[in-house]
This record gives sequence, structure tokens and C-alpha cells, in this order.
Amino acid sequence: MADPYAWLTPALKTIHRAQWHRTVQTVAGKAGPVVELGGQRVINFASNDYLGLAGDERLITAAIAATAAYGTGSTGSRLTSGHRQLHQDLERAIADLKQTEEAIVFSSGYLANLGAIAAVVGPRDGVMGDRYNHSSLKMGAKLSGATVYEFPHGDLAALTQLLQEHRHQYRRCLITTDSVFSMDGDLAAVPELLAIAAQYEAMLLIDEAHGTGVFGPHGAGVVEHFGCTGQPLIQVGTLSKALGSLGGYVAGSAELIDFLRNRAPSWIYTTGLSPADTAAAKEAIALLHREPQRRAQLWRNVDTAKQILSQSFPLLPSASPILCAQLHSPAQALDLAAQLRHGGIWVPAIRPPTVPTSRLRFSIMASHDANHFQQLKQGIGSLSPRAKGKEQC
Ligand SMILES: *Cc1c(COP(=O)(O)O)cnc(C)c1O
Repeated sequence: MADPYAWLTPALKTIHRAQWHRTVQTVAGKAGPVVELGGQRVINFASNDYLGLAGDERLITAAIAATAAYGTGSTGSRLTSGHRQLHQDLERAIADLKQTEEAIVFSSGYLANLGAIAAVVGPRDGVMGDRYNHSSLKMGAKLSGATVYEFPHGDLAALTQLLQEHRHQYRRCLITTDSVFSMDGDLAAVPELLAIAAQYEAMLLIDEAHGTGVFGPHGAGVVEHFGCTGQPLIQVGTLSKALGSLGGYVAGSAELIDFLRNRAPSWIYTTGLSPADTAAAKEAIALLHREPQRRAQLWRNVDTAKQILSQSFPLLPSASPILCAQLHSPAQALDLAAQLRHGGIWVPAIRPPTVPTSRLRFSIMASHDANHFQQLKQGIGSLSPRAKGKEQC
């Protein structure tokens, strides 16, 4: 009898051969700028916890209090037994932050994209997405059954041409984009995208996963940063990055949110967000308002990190706390990440197929301090020029 799972061995070999193989690493201790990895204390440049809220005592207290009051699980879909006042309060807080009529929370940002996209477009429609979009935007488009087009990263002329050629073939069109591109750190041109969407009567979905809490005078995101608050948009995001919790959301018009409550399968057929996650996210949004100095510190830290990194590496163009050192190969990325890790600096090597070219991806946090940056400088200074690939430049 042939083993129906025999294909796994060669499939894994292929992944190894391309140096694409990944494994998990166990992090010990509380989330923060310094964590323990394999028994070693390391400065954390790998986290999405931009404001340092995931380990904040006030979020922890809120999560514990909600667990004590309501229990550990939500026990059912929001449409059956799983809806709490706490959920409604969080949705109100998100809508107020985003200045939208309403918001709806999902169990993750990934599920928010799957649900929103599959709800608003279908087989008679078209989706035009940036090639560098997050996996959840691409999977959502696929799941919807719409015809999917990708345009080269940030290429608005190519997007316009796609709409010019194909808009008439479809009932509806949806343009999708990250607001901060998660593996590069550059921003989507939101005002220009809005103008193109309006011109072709297309919907525009902006994924603010790395924007919320980080950009804009109130931390509402890149939409606020560009002064596009109040425009007709589908704004998606996560509670799991700058907000330090777990979950995702869609913010928009009352009609859009009402429609999603009726048509988004990844919201209808899944359990409501846990009381702990909901309460922690709500507390995080309150802190965005009360402690704008966290955002200010984050941006000062981004400048410091940029100065240090750019002395040794060509950096990808970035306007965010995501700073990428461009490298030549997956092997070089792995080698440098291992050397830095040895020196107490934790930074992930990002390789194909996640991105087209290998890189070290530094995520800067508001809670990194002068000592952490001093260690970063030393760690990078002690890398051999050969490992940095200088001789090839
Ligand atoms: C992280 C991320 C998501 C997924 O959010 P989760 O809450 O972690 O599921 C979606 N979109 C983008 C652009 C992201 O970076």
C-alpha cells in the first residue's frame, strides 16, 4: 500500500533546500523590549508591540478583571450567546477613534479581512490589490470568488489602467491595500487611492494593522495621518499589534457594519472575542488618548534606530517603525540574524516566499531606551564586513 502522506518528506526537503524552512522559537517572560529567548536575555526588535502595551499593567489588570467578571470564554457566536456589553463598548471605542459611524470586532485581523472582503464582493465582482498586500487580504479576495487582479507595489498608474480596462466588466470593484506595508515599512498613498476609487466607483479597503496606534495625531492610523478621516472607506485593522491584545476590526459606515454582521462568515460562525482580549484592547484605546507621549517616543526611537542601521546597511524606504536592512540572500539573512542573536539582539530574518528579497526586519518600540540602542549599535558594529556583504556592494 502506498503511503498517502509520503509526499510530505520531499515537500519538506524542497523547503529546506531553498533555505525557506521556519520553526517556532519559545519566548519567555513578559512581552516587552527585552525578552528571554532560549535562556538568553535579548533586546526585542521582532515584536509588533509598537507602544509597549502588551505588557502594560493596566491592560493586564483590565484583562484579569474581565475574566473574573465574565469568565474565560465568550461561549458562542456574537449572534447567539457570545455578545457582551464589553464587545459593544470596544466597538464604540474603535469607531470613535476612527471617526466612523460604527465598528465590528473579529477574532483576529486575519479573520476581519477574510470576512469583510468575502462579504462585500462575490463572483460578479473584481478585486484590485497591491502585490505586497498581507496574506489575509489576498486570501479574502480568493475566498470571495471575485476576479482578482494584482498591481505592482504602489503603482497607481497600473491600478488606474486595470480599472480603466476592467471596471465595466464587474458589478462592484474593491481596491485593497495595506496602509503600512508590513514587510517593507512604506505607506500606501491613501489620498491618491481615494481619488482613483472615486473616479471608477470602486470601494477601497485599507488594512491599518501596522498603522493603528502608531500614525495620526490621535493614533487612529495612516488614514488620519493623511487627513482622510471621514472618507468613504472600509478600514480594517488588528487589536494585536500596537493595541497589545488579540482580535481584529472593521470600521466604517453603519450600513457597512450592519451588513457585515449579516454576511461575514468569519464573524457569524465563530466565537466572540474573549472577555480578556476585549477588555485589554479597550484599555489600550483609552491609553492611546491619554498617553500621546508613547507615540512621540516611538517616533524619536525610529529616528535613532534609522541612524544606527543606515551606517551599516542599505535600508528599504520606510516611513514607519518597520526598518528593513536589505540583504543579498536568505543565507546571509540567516547568518546575520544568528550573529546578532548571539550578541543579544533579536531581529528576524525575513526571506522568500514571504518577501521577494531577503532582509533583516527591525521593529521599533516606544519602550526601547538608550541602553537598548547602544547595544544595537555594538551588536551591528561587531558584525564582520564580509557577513554584512559590504564587499559585494
Ligand atoms: C498582522 C496583520 C494582519 C493580521 O492581523 P492578526 O490580528 O494578527 O490576525 C492583517 N493584515 C496585516 C497588514 C497585518 O500586518
